[in-house]
Amino acid sequence: MTTLRSIPPRVTWITGSGPVRRHVMFCLGAGMIYGMTAAIMAHSAWLGLISTGVFWLLLGCMAATFLLFFTLVRSGWSQRFEDPVLAFPHGMVSILIIVLAYVLIGEYRGDTIILLAQAVAVAMFRLRPRQCLLLGGWAALCVSLAQFGLVWSGAPGFSWQRGLTHFTVSAVSLMALAVVAMWISAMRVRISRQADELRQTLVQAQALATTDMLTGLLNRRAMTDQLEAELARVSRSGDPVCVALIDIDHFKKVNDHYGHRMGDEVLRAFAALAQGDLRQVDQLGRWGGEEFLLMMPHVDATQAWVAVERLRNRIAAHPMGDSGTLVVTISAGLAQFSPGESLDRWIERADQALYQAKQAGRNRTLIAETPPATTSTPVPAQPTARGPAPVVRLQPSSP
Ligand code: GH3
Ligand code: MG
Ligand code: MG
Repeated sequence: MTTLRSIPPRVTWITGSGPVRRHVMFCLGAGMIYGMTAAIMAHSAWLGLISTGVFWLLLGCMAATFLLFFTLVRSGWSQRFEDPVLAFPHGMVSILIIVLAYVLIGEYRGDTIILLAQAVAVAMFRLRPRQCLLLGGWAALCVSLAQFGLVWSGAPGFSWQRGLTHFTVSAVSLMALAVVAMWISAMRVRISRQADELRQTLVQAQALATTDMLTGLLNRRAMTDQLEAELARVSRSGDPVCVALIDIDHFKKVNDHYGHRMGDEVLRAFAALAQGDLRQVDQLGRWGGEEFLLMMPHVDATQAWVAVERLRNRIAAHPMGDSGTLVVTISAGLAQFSPGESLDRWIERADQALYQAKQAGRNRTLIAETPPATTSTPVPAQPTARGPAPVVRLQPSSP
C-alpha cells in the first residue's frame, strides 16, 4: 500500500521553494505563452508565411527574454522589489518583441496585434491600476512608432489606412484590457486588505481568548494550556517544576474600604510587580478573582519557596493606591510536581497549602508535602540559607 512517506519529494530545483516558488510559477506561465507563440511562428515559417531568418530572430529574442527574467526571479534577486515577479518590466520587453515582430513579419503583421493584448493580459494579474494603464500606453506608443516607421520607409504592402486599422484594433483591445486590469487590480487590493484585517482580527481574538483583560496576564484557560505543556515536558525530562497559588489577603476589605476601582488597581499593581520579579521561564496567570497561579520550571520546592517569599516581601513593602498608604499582603501555597500525579491533583495540593497558609495567619508561603512519585524518585526538599522551608502535611486527596 502506498503511504504518504513513500511519495518521492517534489522536484524543486526549477521552481525553488518558499515565496520564490510562487513567483517562479508565474514566470513559467509566461514561458508557456512564449512556447505557444514560438510554435505558431514555426508553423507560419514552415508554410512560408514568414521568413526563416525572421523566425529565428524572434525566437532568439523570446528565449533570451524568458531566460533573463526566469533567472532574475529564480535566483531570488528580484525579491528586493515590490513585485518580485517583475511583471511590469517583463511586460514592457514582451511588447517590444511583439512590435518587432509586427515590423518584420511582413504582410501578415496584423496577426501579431492580438499578442499585445495577450502580454498585457498576463501581466495584469500582478500590476497596480496605474501600471496597467502605463503598459497599455507603452504598447500603443510602440505600435504607432512602428507604423510611422513603416509608412515613412515605404514598407511594401503597408499603407497608412492598414496601419490605422491595426492601431484602432490594438487601441480598442488594449483599452478594454486596461479597464479589466484596473478592475482586477482594485479587487486584488481589496481582497488583500480584507485578508490583512482578518489576520489582525484573528490575532486579537487569540489575545482575547488567552489574556486576562484586567491584568494583562494569561487567563485561566491559557495558564492551564501552559501547565499541560509543561507536564508533558517534565514527564519526558524528569525536570523539577513547581506551582504556587497566590491569593491576596483580605482583598474583600480593600474593595469594601477603598471601592471596587481601587481593588482593580491593586490587582493590576500586583500583576505588574510580580511580573517584574520573575524569571523569563516563569509563567504567571490570573487563576480567578484575586487568586494567581505561578508556574516555575527547573526549580524544586525549596528554590521556588525562596522566589515566592521574595515576591511576598516585595508586595508587602510596596504601598499601593493613590495616596500610597494601602499595604496588601499575599499568602501562597506551593507544590512541586510529583512524577505520575495528575495536573488537578498537583494544583489541589498547592490549593491545600494555600488554605493552610490562610489558616496559619496569612502573609506567608507554605509548601505542600510532595507525595512519593509513582513513576520515579521525587526530588527531596533542601534546607535553605534562611532555614528550612515550611512543608505542610496535607490531607489525602479526596477521590
Ligand atoms: P482571604 O484573605 O481569605 O483571601 O480573604 P479575601 O477577602 O481576600 O477573600 P474573599 O474570597 O472573601 O474575597 C475576595 C474578593 O475579591 C471578593 C470579590 O468581590 C473580589 N474580587 C474578585 N474579583 C475581583 C475583581 O476583578 N476586581 C475587584 N475589585 N474585586 C474582585
Ligand atoms: Mg484573598
Ligand atoms: Mg481568594
